[in-house]
Amino acid sequence: MQTIDYLRISLIDRCNFRCQYCMPSEDELTYLLQENLLTKEEIITLLQKVFIPLGFNKFRLTGGEPLLRPDLVEIVEAITALPETQDLALSTNAFLLEKLAKPLYDAGLRRINISLDSLNPENFDSIIGNNGRSRWQQTWKGILAAHSVGFNPLKLNVVVIPGVNDQEVLDLAALTRDRNWHVRFIEFMPIGNSDWFHDRAWIPSEELRQQIRQKWGLEASSVKGNGPADVFQIPEAKGTLGFISQMSECFCDRCNRMRLSADGWLRPCLLNETGQMDLKTHLRQSPNFRQMREQVAQLIALKPEINFKERENGTLTGTYNRTMSQIGG
Ligand code: SAM
Ligand code: SF4
Repeated sequence: MQTIDYLRISLIDRCNFRCQYCMPSEDELTYLLQENLLTKEEIITLLQKVFIPLGFNKFRLTGGEPLLRPDLVEIVEAITALPETQDLALSTNAFLLEKLAKPLYDAGLRRINISLDSLNPENFDSIIGNNGRSRWQQTWKGILAAHSVGFNPLKLNVVVIPGVNDQEVLDLAALTRDRNWHVRFIEFMPIGNSDWFHDRAWIPSEELRQQIRQKWGLEASSVKGNGPADVFQIPEAKGTLGFISQMSECFCDRCNRMRLSADGWLRPCLLNETGQMDLKTHLRQSPNFRQMREQVAQLIALKPEINFKERENGTLTGTYNRTMSQIGG
């Protein structure tokens, strides 16, 4: 059985973007009250008393948009200061990264994943649901800031959606030719915005690889991630291309992660709501950490049963009460 040692921690459910594949329209969303978000101290307590004793040593901060969290730099500092932390990464849309890249790096963060679905400012703005000022330039500045501060690996995540940004796959792949960046193409999952779900709303990774292969060639990369991406490289390129194919290829048997939501629910599988556990309520009532560890250990043991139960032949058949921005992707 796969060792479960990686926890994705959502810090906030709010976001300054409204990516149409991720969030439903404004009036369908309710947000958590501030008092229901886990505090920095509660997150660290859960890591020290529950997750680290159970063998977790890899963490990712996500959201919503984690850069909206005012105490993000302190949270990074506190997690990197834990002697058991082997790996800490951050997922962000980079809009606020230009100013935060250096403080985050100085706090000990080294790995960053940035969502970038388009290189075309107009297309970008339409994907992120922006109806005012263009956001692409500021996002790009955030990416360049992360690069110049020294984040390595710097990964760019692209959710590929037919008719929306699939025409940009080669341009996005080309970013890796002369930069040590890692572009990862993610198959769109029909969670979050039901207006966007229809047959084949996603493109199988193999079709993207064929396009790239025809243009430049494509070889398996010697750089291996510790996640679900299959990693390739354009010959002679400085960076790599990852493909996350959760719709066309089931990688549940490689899944090493659990997810903690911003309001303290522990979730064993992205696509299955079974078995969620409310850790915040336990924590805020005189907590019995031994009992919490036992319950989390039981949930971990059940994880292989729970993984992807609602997935059939590349379609998702379940109902999802939380959007990706609420789960943390
Ligand atoms: N705001 C941050 C960001 O965009 O990176 C972190 C949270 S976001 C929910 C985490 C990841 O989930 C992003 O890479 C995003 O592209 C991905 N995501 C959101 N909705 C998705 C969907 N329906 N299918 C596949 N990936 C999705
Ligand atoms: Fe926000 Fe990230 Fe979702 Fe886009 S993908 S709406 S940036 S949480």
